Amino acid sequence: MPGVEFFGAEEQKEVNDVMQTGILFRYNHDQQRQGIWKAREFEAEICKFTGAKYAHAVSSGSTAVATALAAAGIGAGDEVIVPPFTYVASVEAVLFVGGIPVFAEIDETLCLSAEGIRKALTPKTKAILMVHMCGGMADMDGIMEIVKEKNLVLVEDAGQAYGASYNGTKVGLFGKTGCYSFDFFKIATAGEGGVLVTNDEQAYKHADSYSDHGHDHIGNNRGMEQHPIIGFNYRISELHAAVGLAQARRVPEVIRLNRKNKTLFASLLADIPGVSFSRLADPDGDSATFLNILLPDTVSAKEVVRVMNEKGIAGFNYWYINMYHFINQWDHIKTLKSASKLPIHLFGQSQDYKTLDLPKSQEVVGRLISFGVRCTWKEEEVRELASRVRACIEEVLTKAHA
Ligand SMILES: *Cc1c(COP(=O)(O)O)cnc(C)c1O
Repeated sequence: MPGVEFFGAEEQKEVNDVMQTGILFRYNHDQQRQGIWKAREFEAEICKFTGAKYAHAVSSGSTAVATALAAAGIGAGDEVIVPPFTYVASVEAVLFVGGIPVFAEIDETLCLSAEGIRKALTPKTKAILMVHMCGGMADMDGIMEIVKEKNLVLVEDAGQAYGASYNGTKVGLFGKTGCYSFDFFKIATAGEGGVLVTNDEQAYKHADSYSDHGHDHIGNNRGMEQHPIIGFNYRISELHAAVGLAQARRVPEVIRLNRKNKTLFASLLADIPGVSFSRLADPDGDSATFLNILLPDTVSAKEVVRVMNEKGIAGFNYWYINMYHFINQWDHIKTLKSASKLPIHLFGQSQDYKTLDLPKSQEVVGRLISFGVRCTWKEEEVRELASRVRACIEEVLTKAHA
């Protein structure tokens, strides 16, 4: 959670601006707000940094994914290819806009692979929800080829990859719509918040209306506004936007420090036989929020996790069994348990999630241990942590070979 490592006076200043006017609502009240528009400024900062033509801030990364899907025209009955390794919000968003998630294989990029997507295509495939995992990026060339060839809609959930890029383009800008999360655990935080980006004016307008009861936000009398479409309340508050704005400004520096620490950390483990790292489709575009270590197999990864826990090493995730990011932990989704009927219950599934076989994803996530990179680490701290991790890995791998 690198953003919060730098929480300070700048965040307080932005919040205080809002507190002084008392206008916590992002729209209207032009007179009383005295020129304070934090959500707008937050969006402008995202546009400047990513190069997006339009940005629209909402209440969370999760509502940003739902808005991104809806604004890209994805809805009831549409088949959407999703990865089995992602924060569960990606899959929930597809279900809540009425779509039918179809799981495809990831590879060592930790993202959906072109090969995996091709195998999961059906005549009914409408869209791909591309998730850029663990601060890195998908291998976009092969994926864009499929999108064009099959005339699919691409939507990107870059919830945990704000600042990452592929061949000079920020992730989130390859699709019709894309989005980022600014929850408490991301590279920058608004407390709670998310931002949708797009270069498509129509998609932007739909996102803007969809996330605020269909309002067109034209004029300065909210009661008299038009409602071109049906929407709901996914608005961000000015207080959250104020924090997000100050935090977003820190991202270039956070990435610089993350990269320095990650490079050192990786270099201190790289020569261990049997150890490799997740593949960065563009090494120059890494946001470097995670060092993703790949061990030879699931058995040795589990054993390394056990030894590291025993030795009191913290700050890593073993997604395969310990976290809420992998399909193996999603029984409620596999059985489609919900509080009330969802469109998928009427349309039917295209895959039986309970018997779904994704051997490549099981293999990759089984081998994966991800360390959160801290931008405030001192060099000695990185060296100390790396040497402790190294000892655990070597202990397990030597035993396995003995
Ligand atoms: C964090 C995250 C989300 C959800 O964001 P929230 O702001 O927590 O709602 C969605 N997708 C991915 C890939 C995420 O990592």
